Formats: sequence, C-alpha cells, structure tokens
Amino acid sequence: MTVRLVIARPLPGTVGGSRRVVHVFPVPAEETTPERLTAYCGETFGPGELELLERPLGMPCVTCLHRAPTPESAEQPAIEQ
Ligand SMILES: [Zn+2]
Repeated sequence: MTVRLVIARPLPGTVGGSRRVVHVFPVPAEETTPERLTAYCGETFGPGELELLERPLGMPCVTCLHRAPTPESAEQPAIEQ
C-alpha cells in the first residue's frame, strides 16, 4: 500500500510548548485525510489540533524520525534544519 507522509505539529495552546514538536504521519494515498491522524510515535490528533507543514520547521519528534521511512536515504534523517 502506498502511503504519503504528512508532517504537522500541534497548534499553539493545544499542548505545552515543549511538546510542540513536528510529528510525521502516514496517510493512505488513495484516501482523503482521515479525521484523526496517528503519528509514528503513537500520538493521535483530531481535527483542529494540528498545523500542517509544507516542510520541517522547528523541533522534530525524535521518535517519529526514527520510525518514519526515509525513501531518499535510509541513513540520513530527511529533516533539514
Ligand atoms: Zn511524533
């Protein structure tokens, strides 16, 4: 099954500042974005809780980075600072 990867972080005010890290979410390519997204680290978010990002910004979620596949390179994290 093909999945696309979506990156997003919690919106301000939904979690504490230190938990506003950028998570990686697998989303089935053939469906529209589901109501709830579950990140690779296991955190789940509902509608209105996430700020979708075009590219990585700020602090990445380390657990998500470790678990998310990186098609370009299996060695290097795909996140640029
Ligand atoms: Zn995460």
